[in-house]
Parts: sequence; structure tokens; C-alpha cells
Amino acid sequence: MTLTQFSAELQTKKEAFWSNIFKRFAWMYTITAILLALIIGYAYQQYTQNLEDKMLSQEQTFVSSTTQALQQEMQTQLKILQMVTRSRALSHFMESGDQASRQEIEKLFINLAITFHRYDQIRLIDMQGNEAIRMNYREDDTDIVPAKNRQNKRYSKYFQEGIKLAKGQVYVSPMELNVEYDEVEIPYKPVVRFVTPIMNEKGEKLGLIVMNYLSTELLQNFRDQMELRINGQGMLIDPEGYWMSNHDRSNEWGGSLEDVDQKFENLYPSAWSTINSHDGGILKSDKGIFRYVSINPFSLSSIGKYIAEQDINLSVTKQSIKNNDWKLVIFLPNETIHERSFFFTAFGQFIVILIFIGSAAILFLLLLLSEQKRRQQRHDLFIKNELSDLYENSPCGYHSLDKNGIVLKINQTELNWLGYSREEVIGKPFSAFLTAKSKGIFEAFLEQLQHDKSVEGIVLEIQCKSDHTFFVSTSATSILEKGHFAIARTSTFDITDRIKLEERLAYIANTDVLTGISNRRHFFLQANERLKEDTDISVLMLDADHFKRVNDVYGHDVGDDVLKMIASTLRSVLPKEVILARLGGEEFVILASDLSAEKAFKLSQKICIVMENTPISVNNKADINITLSIGTAQRIAYDEDIDEMLKRADIALYQAKTTGRNKAIQAS
Ligand code: GH3
Ligand code: MG
Ligand code: MG
Repeated sequence: MTLTQFSAELQTKKEAFWSNIFKRFAWMYTITAILLALIIGYAYQQYTQNLEDKMLSQEQTFVSSTTQALQQEMQTQLKILQMVTRSRALSHFMESGDQASRQEIEKLFINLAITFHRYDQIRLIDMQGNEAIRMNYREDDTDIVPAKNRQNKRYSKYFQEGIKLAKGQVYVSPMELNVEYDEVEIPYKPVVRFVTPIMNEKGEKLGLIVMNYLSTELLQNFRDQMELRINGQGMLIDPEGYWMSNHDRSNEWGGSLEDVDQKFENLYPSAWSTINSHDGGILKSDKGIFRYVSINPFSLSSIGKYIAEQDINLSVTKQSIKNNDWKLVIFLPNETIHERSFFFTAFGQFIVILIFIGSAAILFLLLLLSEQKRRQQRHDLFIKNELSDLYENSPCGYHSLDKNGIVLKINQTELNWLGYSREEVIGKPFSAFLTAKSKGIFEAFLEQLQHDKSVEGIVLEIQCKSDHTFFVSTSATSILEKGHFAIARTSTFDITDRIKLEERLAYIANTDVLTGISNRRHFFLQANERLKEDTDISVLMLDADHFKRVNDVYGHDVGDDVLKMIASTLRSVLPKEVILARLGGEEFVILASDLSAEKAFKLSQKICIVMENTPISVNNKADINITLSIGTAQRIAYDEDIDEMLKRADIALYQAKTTGRNKAIQAS
């Protein structure tokens, strides 16, 4: 990525930043919210289940105590009925119509009524259905009904059933509202009729005893019990599904009132089939929870023990059992459960909302931080790449060395220069990539880094994988570890061009343009250097003889060529270490070290001979013979610089000129 691309992208990124966060937030929060909803939903379910269980278990006491009370009350009636049937007056009266017996019976009936307050009527009915004796119980006026008010009950259900009974058998009617002269008696009188036959000693049926058990108090007790419960919703249902007791009184007695819609089934259609077909249990509906139980006071299971304990020898018919197969149903409406549920309190709902909002806030914050971090990382990566690119591909070489000069790191530019791969360089001493000349400089450079924080501009000659070499200027800063030089961070610049230029300039500055040998300036520099080192130094001053003539005869250009030839002839005669320079015009100078005066003089003589015998061809036509006059001088102990020696050589040269030329003369 280029820098412009990056900055353009940075701008776009800035705009995308928020939309990016919102997009990620949207889908992540959807998942989070679903998970939270599942968790809270599960917690709610568990909690509600617990709450319901707790509430239902609290109902247990009510249910069992109510059940027991109802059963006992109904069973007690059997005991009282048995007590009544044991009266001999009954059969005696039925057989003889004896008035004393009648009075005894009437007394018994009244006594029962006012003792127990729960027999609405007690009657003796003959085999034709006529009420023989009838007692009506009223709060203020309990009395025996006179003959004119007695009725015939031949067509009543209880008479029909009663007349079929054998000795000791009891028919118990369903609980229903009392009807007099085809009208439901007001106020409602819920009654259960207990019917059993009266027999003589021969076992002949004489009539029936019918006790109308008034259930008002029983039902009131039931209601009182139910009202003690959490919400007071309790009901007692007859086998037909009508309410004998309901928290809403207007629902009661649908059966007796012939209001067939006023049934449990109509209010809770789906619940009824389950409740009706099971003896007890818990049923959840969308409106709430039912807890129900069958109460059958005359079923064998509930009556068996009672009969045995109470020594009762009456038996209840199957129909009677069916008639009194009741259901106790208590109902916990959802509202009642919710009222007690933490989740439905303001605080609970606040907590749930807080969880959702809080998780959204936390998620948003995390996304914001992560997005910022991502952006920062991208930025850092870019900078890192940029820096790495800058390091690897910068126009100069970079490498890092340890304190022993081993290459730890090197950039691509320098590798390209060297022609080696990275693997070939890392771990090797850097001096392995230097020319022999530079190895020493490099050692000194490393040494210097031990003391100095930085070293600059050291020129080293690099040895490439190919034979090629080139010069670099190296600078380094030292990195310390525990106060000691540990790593050199080094930069190198290719300075081959500069070195070549310097060499060229030095060449130009030191070289005589015409002949290519050292010029006067270079001669003096070198001569004075040698003078510092060596003591045995000879200097030879040479001057071409009659050179003017060459110019005059052949022209100045030829004169120049001849000067070149003289220089090359001289160079070919002289050993390598001897310095040869053109002082100016047709004058040359030679400086030889470690040469005795004698040897130096011999050398000048040799030069004269070689020169004289080396004809120089001119324009490929004529050959010119050039001769030289030479004055030599030897260093004397007190010679401080070259000038003194040159003066003496010049004098000797002058002597050579004046004494015939083409000769060498040694300064005295
Ligand atoms: P001698 O030294 O033997 O006394 O005679 P000469 O003719 O060499 O006399 P002198 O040394 O006085 O003159 C030097 C001459 O060399 C003068 C000039 O014409 C010639 N000369 C000097 N420099 C150059 C040069 O660079 N090129 C050419 N072609 N001639 C030069
Ligand atoms: Mg001259
Ligand atoms: Mg001359």
C-alpha cells in the first residue's frame, strides 16, 4: 500500500469506524439478546416452577383437611341413620299405626333435628309413597307436619331408589337443592337424602326412612376453608360437573336450576376432561394451575375403615357412591402466581431490563475498544511495514553488528550490493566482506566503538560475491548493554563515485598534463615526505639540450610530442620506487631514495647514454636525437627540505650545460 492509498483509506476508515461498530453490534447483540432471553427464560421457568411448587405445597394442608372434614361429616350421617333405624317404634308404627309409637318417632325426629341442626326433613314413608310421619326443621319452628300437608312421594327419585333397597342398604342421593311442589325452595337448601328401608322381624319391607341432610353448614365450612387460601378460589363439583360450591356464588347449582351451561366444563373446557378422568393431580392451563382431588365419602376405600371403627352394618349402594363422587378443585390463577413472582415486581423487571441494557452497553464498549485496537494495530502494522520497507529498501545500506563484528542484521539494499543472500551474511564477520586493505580499518573502527558513542564517515572497500569491489562510507552508533558496547547499528553509503572523483582530482592535481608523469607540485609533496623518512636521498635535475631548436625546426606540437617521449624513456629506465616529475618546460627532476651518491651519479650517466641512443621519430619521417644535461645532488645532513638539494643540483646542471652538454655532473 502506498502512503497516499493509506491516507485515503484512513479517511474512509474514519467514516466506516462507527458504521462498522454498529454493524458488529447489531448482529452480536442479537445473539447476546437471544442467549440472555434463553437464560432468563430458563431462570424464569425454574423460578416459577419453584414458586408454583411452593404455593401448591402450601395448599396441601387445606386440601387434605377439607377432604377429611367432608368425608367424615357425610359418613357420620350413616351412623346417625343406623341409630334411627334401630328404633323398634318404626316397624311397630308401620305395622299397627300405634299412636304411642308415632309420638315416640316424632319425638325422635324432632330431637335429632334440634340436636344436630342439619336435618331439614326426616320422614317415614309407606310403601305407596305417602309421607306417614314428616318432621320439618326450621330455625324458629321445628315441627311435625300435619296430615293435610303431607305429600305423596311415589314419583320421587329417592322413593323409587329406596323401594328397591334390601335390609341394611342405604341410598344416598346426589346433593341438590330442595324442591317443594315442583319449585326450588328459597333460600336454597342443598340437601342430600339418606334413604333406608324399615323391615319387620319377618324381613318384610314396611316403608322407608328418608333423612334430608341439609348441606348448608357443610358447604359454608368448605367455603370458609377455601377463603383462608391464597386467593380463595376453591370449588366443589358434583359428578355432573356442576358447582356445589364456588368462590363465585352465582355459578353454583347449575344442575338443580337446570342451567346446563353453568358447568365447570364450560368455564375451563380443556381442564375438565383431565380432572374428571383422574383421581387427583396438578393441571396447568393457560389461565393458571388447578390442583384437584376426588372426594368420595362413600367409596369403599374411604368408608371401609370408618364402618369398621364405628360398628356400622349399613351398606351404601353403588348408585349412592356415584351420586357423591365429588371433585375438590382449587385454582391458582396466573395473576396470583405473578403477584408473588419476583419477575413481576417492579424491581425484578428493572433487573431484567438492566441486564439487557447493561449487556448492550458492555458489548458496545467492548466493540468500541476492540475496533480502536484493530485500527491501532492496522496503523502500527502499516508503520511497521513502512519502517521495514524503509530499512530494507532505503538507498543506503544498514546492518547491525555485535561487539565482535558479526553481522546480526542487514538490509536488502546492502545485500544487493554484496550479491549475497541474507543467509550467507547473517552470523558471518563483516570483515569477510571487505577487501584486505579495509579489514584493518574495520578493526580500528570496531575498536573505536568500544569507547565512542558514534563513529562517522569511515571509508571501507567492500568485496562483493563477484570480484567487484566498491567503496562505502560507514557510520555507526553503539548500543550499550550494562554500560558496555554490545551492538553497532551501522549505515553505509556507496561512495565509489566520490572516491573515483577524488582519485581523478588527485591525479589531475599531481600529474603533468602533457607527459602524464608527476607535476612539480606532486614532486615537492612526495620529496618532502621522503625526506622525513629516508636519509640517503639523491636528486637529479635534467634539462633537454637545445630544445628551442626542436620547436624552431619541427614546431611546438612536435616539441610537445618529444617531451612526452623523453618522459616515457626516462620512466622506462628508472626503477619503480624512483620519483620522476616534470618541473616545467623541458626540465625534469628525479628523486631516488636509498641511493648512494655514486649510484645516483651512475644512474644519471646511464640516463644520458640511454637518451642519446634513443632516437625519437618525428612525423614518421625524421629521427631526432635528444640529449640531456643532468646535475645531481646528494642529501646532506642539515638539508631540511628539498629546495637546498635542488639548488645544488641546479648548479651542477648549469656546469653540465656550460661544459658541453649531454653529460651528468655531480654537485660537490
Ligand atoms: P639549452 O638548455 O641547451 O641551453 O638550450 P635550450 O634551447 O634548451 O634553451 P632554454 O632551456 O633556455 O630554452 C627552453 C626552450 O624550450 C624554450 C621553449 O621554446 C622550449 N619549451 C619550453 N617549454 C616547452 C613546451 O612545453 N613545449 C615546447 N614545444 N617547447 C617548450
Ligand atoms: Mg631549460
Ligand atoms: Mg634546455
